[in-house]
Amino acid sequence: MKQSAIAAVIERDLLAEPSTSNSRATTCFSCGRGFIPKGELRRFCCERCRDWFDAGNPSHEEQRLQTIYRWSDGRPMRQRPNGFCINCANCQKEFDSKGLRCCSVVCERAYCERQENLPAHSRNRHLFAF
Ligand SMILES: [Zn+2]
Ligand SMILES: [Zn+2]
Repeated sequence: MKQSAIAAVIERDLLAEPSTSNSRATTCFSCGRGFIPKGELRRFCCERCRDWFDAGNPSHEEQRLQTIYRWSDGRPMRQRPNGFCINCANCQKEFDSKGLRCCSVVCERAYCERQENLPAHSRNRHLFAF
């Protein structure tokens, strides 16, 4: 996936408000089933779903995204609340990216410098690509 595509996806899926076409029915945070909220359970259709999420399991939305987005080599992309978990193009450390290839400004600068020091023909080969 291209960086711009990822940004668009994040904007669409993570920043979008849930549909308000039906004000009473809502979607269970854990299993994704539509239900009418009642009592204390507002985000979950049942206590089992609440317990599932409270136990640290991914929400329905996260599970869905996890299965959809993959790297070009087939590895699944790990979805994080603020973006995708990738390895920094410079120091290889894992970080949450919203479309950036480096974990920090320092790494970005170092990475760019390294690219410029490479002979022209081998440039771009190490470019970060989704
Ligand atoms: Zn549920
Ligand atoms: Zn880094």
